[in-house]
Amino acid sequence: MSEAKGQDSFLGLNLPPAQIENLTALGYEHMTAVQAQALPLALARKDLIAQARTGSGKTAAFGIALLCHLNPRDFGTQSLILCPTRELCTQVATEIRRLARYLPNIKVVVLCGGQSIGPQIGSLAHGAHVVVGTPGRIKDHLLKETLKLERINTLVLDEADRMLDMGFSEDIEYIIGETPADRQTLMFSATFPAHIDSLSAQYQRDAQRITVETVASETTIDQTYYLCGKKEEGTQRAEAVLRLLYHFSPESCAVFCNTRQSTTEIAQVLSDAGLVAMALHGEMEQRERDQVLIQFRNGSCQVLVATDVAARGLDIEQLPMVINADLPRDLEVYTHRIGRTGRAGNEGAALSLFFENERFRVDALLERSDNAGAAQIKTIESVPQARDTPATCSKQTLSIAGGRKNKIRPGDILGTLTAEGGIAGTAIGRIDILEFASFVAIDIDQIEAAIAQLEARRIKGQKFKVRRLHTIASRTGRARY
Ligand code: AMP
Repeated sequence: MSEAKGQDSFLGLNLPPAQIENLTALGYEHMTAVQAQALPLALARKDLIAQARTGSGKTAAFGIALLCHLNPRDFGTQSLILCPTRELCTQVATEIRRLARYLPNIKVVVLCGGQSIGPQIGSLAHGAHVVVGTPGRIKDHLLKETLKLERINTLVLDEADRMLDMGFSEDIEYIIGETPADRQTLMFSATFPAHIDSLSAQYQRDAQRITVETVASETTIDQTYYLCGKKEEGTQRAEAVLRLLYHFSPESCAVFCNTRQSTTEIAQVLSDAGLVAMALHGEMEQRERDQVLIQFRNGSCQVLVATDVAARGLDIEQLPMVINADLPRDLEVYTHRIGRTGRAGNEGAALSLFFENERFRVDALLERSDNAGAAQIKTIESVPQARDTPATCSKQTLSIAGGRKNKIRPGDILGTLTAEGGIAGTAIGRIDILEFASFVAIDIDQIEAAIAQLEARRIKGQKFKVRRLHTIASRTGRARY
């Protein structure tokens, strides 16, 4: 036993045995670096200011601690987690629900902008132990008095630097003012600019600072800058992205752009060339954004073409390649973007395009980067023009018009699909259940059979509409911009 209690084991933390079992069931055997540093302090109710990115296990670092301090019988909101974007809120809420499985009936509610407020008010009416939301929408609920924060014992500011960058600072201050002074405040941030320090000084008590090596994996990332010509003309940038994708043929790839126009243009060029590429930017409807992310995660979208804001908080495991179609404006954004590849010791490639008139930006990035020596500069012409279309996705996503509200669980969908006359379990990929809809990835050659099976049978005693999700890039690209 004492051996198992090694430095990075969860066993030394005095967590409830049911939580240890739950963590084992989730496959969490060892603490990640940020968890090892943050959990003992957070469990001891200390305020924290921690440097951690998405992918570091930071959600569990605060989630495990805040769940320990919850009283399940009290339906007053006891934990509030503020995040910059709806994607991050959804991810955080999903992770908290998984971590809370050992407790009976813990209610986690997501409150974000871009969605109608009515249903949110409805779901708050019966109380919620944990609220995850964006600052703007949380403030709206406070003003409407549909949310009360007087019982908060843990406040989490996730991606605090991004929230400040996005102009949420006044809302955050207003929200903090509504919480009890004796709360515990846990702040997570990828970077520590001066305004983060002043936020901490103002609202935290004796905050313990935690830093983990954020760019430790950078060394396993192959960084190459490609010179594409003198000055950009026409669709040159999109063609260069296509050339890289054809040549390297990555299983999946995120392409980053600085503007939403670039995302739709590039996604369009890639789709026209036969790749399954989808745009993701902040001005798409939330429902569309959710669907794009679901398809990217479950392997039915090969190339995600995103702006930084839309991609914030993206939790994609083991992305083999990241392409910077536009050079990021500063090193922090660059590090954040390329940090999505080469995670957890896996090798990754970060390819960046630039034109001669942008060379000063490359120089600035290299000058400030710690491991500039590892970066290479090549010309796009050095990448051979491939003739064959690279292999694309083997899966497609079906959407089912019922979700958590209809009490659907992944097992129900799996069971229906594999029931008599159905398809093999091996043809079924990831299943995502949202509030009102569910999504399941299916091998393309089994898609018709899967639709027929879902249409013929009931799930939880009910029939639900089933449809194949469209590839959104072409629709969004043509219809809107
Ligand atoms: P986060 O940085 O919170 O977005 O977490 C990144 C991913 O790591 C999530 O998919 C978590 O489920 C997973 N994760 C968190 N902690 C652990 C752990 N101790 N062991 C294995 N996986 C973990």
